Amino acid sequence: MAKKILIFDTTLRDGEQSPGASLTSSEKLLIAKQLAKLGVDIIEAGFPITSESDFESVKQIAEEVKGPIICGLARAMKGDIDRAWEAVKYAERPRIHTFVATSQIHIDKKLRKSQDEVIEMVIEAVRHAKSLCSDVEFSPEDAARTDIRYMCSVVEAAINAGATTINIPDTVGYAEPEEFGNRIKGVFENLGGLIDYHKVVISVHCHDDLGLSVANSLAGVMNGATQVECTINGIGERAGNASLEEFVMNLKTRSDYFADYYTSINTKEIFATSQMVSNLTGLLVQRNKAIVGRNAFAHEAGIHQHGMLKDKKTYEIMDASDVGWRGEHIVIGKHSGRHAVENTLSEMGYGLDAVQIDSVMERIKTLADKSKEVVKEDIIAIATDVLGQVASNEEIVKLVDYSISSGNEKQTSACVVLQVNGEEKKGSSQGVGPVDALSKAITGLTYPLTLKEYHLNAITGGTNALAHVTILVEDDSGTIFSADGISEDIVKASALALVKGLNKAWNFLKK
Ligand SMILES: [Zn+2]
Repeated sequence: MAKKILIFDTTLRDGEQSPGASLTSSEKLLIAKQLAKLGVDIIEAGFPITSESDFESVKQIAEEVKGPIICGLARAMKGDIDRAWEAVKYAERPRIHTFVATSQIHIDKKLRKSQDEVIEMVIEAVRHAKSLCSDVEFSPEDAARTDIRYMCSVVEAAINAGATTINIPDTVGYAEPEEFGNRIKGVFENLGGLIDYHKVVISVHCHDDLGLSVANSLAGVMNGATQVECTINGIGERAGNASLEEFVMNLKTRSDYFADYYTSINTKEIFATSQMVSNLTGLLVQRNKAIVGRNAFAHEAGIHQHGMLKDKKTYEIMDASDVGWRGEHIVIGKHSGRHAVENTLSEMGYGLDAVQIDSVMERIKTLADKSKEVVKEDIIAIATDVLGQVASNEEIVKLVDYSISSGNEKQTSACVVLQVNGEEKKGSSQGVGPVDALSKAITGLTYPLTLKEYHLNAITGGTNALAHVTILVEDDSGTIFSADGISEDIVKASALALVKGLNKAWNFLKK
């Protein structure tokens, strides 16, 4: 009988640790609901001890998202575990995931303990977690670089202390597929009886530093693992995690080769989920990304087109509709009513409340009045922007007005009018171009921020496209904030992004 492979999604925990990807609580909730629709088995919603806002967001997901197991991460320490439990206990099916590093380099340099002392920590932590929650996952961090005999002793101790899932992570993305597969096989060879007796799930968690995270995950599954930890679009620390969509579509597309395994993912929700995560995190999907890149199903090259005309199967191994790819730029139309807009949004997983829909409708009307054809991507972009608005009590700086002067022979200058704490301030500056001049004028009136990264993306193409500007700014303490702005005018989109970044930095300072 084919084995079900559990999909453990960590987009909201490991994925959110991607440099520059910070999500608000309402954005995280929206993604969690979409993940439930996608059919993931476990959602790792966050790392509750790290901040008050992470705690609140895990708690909210536990309370509101039905279907998947909701999991919170905790180091192998009592305080962490208690905090994780406080956040996940409201879920239908809560899980605590605790971990401790086991590779010699981590034990020596980070923990400064002996191997036996680490095993004691594991036993204590798992027992404590188990006293709170029946579903406990344990990970020996950096397992792929841990001596296999020692790793097995740690795993054995964790199972005896009550762990129900054992996750073997390649934390630093160092393993090769055959080697990693052998490590999983080794776990079963050494501890098979114990694993069977306690019905323990063996899981894998691979990183993409050498581009092998999906291959390593597949090797793990072929050697007995029945849970795979992954993220949407493969986002995550450094080079990222194994990509959910790539892993799942390998099993599905090559069901001849992987005949013994299946997942309960509704693959038709893959594209909507990928777009949502990309829009809300600001981490764009590269065009040639497997499964969800814009080019993945666009057979534009002439030689392919010829073959395609006769039979799609000549070059397409997957059907675009299997991953829910609906094509781009579907026109919604200038006179589309609220109903059509709501439908488009819910189809893409955006369940907004009435007030949010009102502001989306207002923005669509303004856009349509400027003689712009409104397409699906515009609506999603506007909805994303509405969701990501800084709460009004946190809006310390407001953009009132700006103007730019630039030309071939003269230096670009910008004038801005801002409202700062209710008081109107005017300023101006020169720069090498409009964004530089604007940035200097705005930060000159407020707070020193350095623009570290600037990305401009035209949402629909054409000179009247909506522009989406995503930025990373750094304050003088070295803290990095991400922000974005949307407008049909690229300069205005840049100004809005800068102001949003300032509000984030100031609110952070207040806390
Ligand atoms: Zn990880």
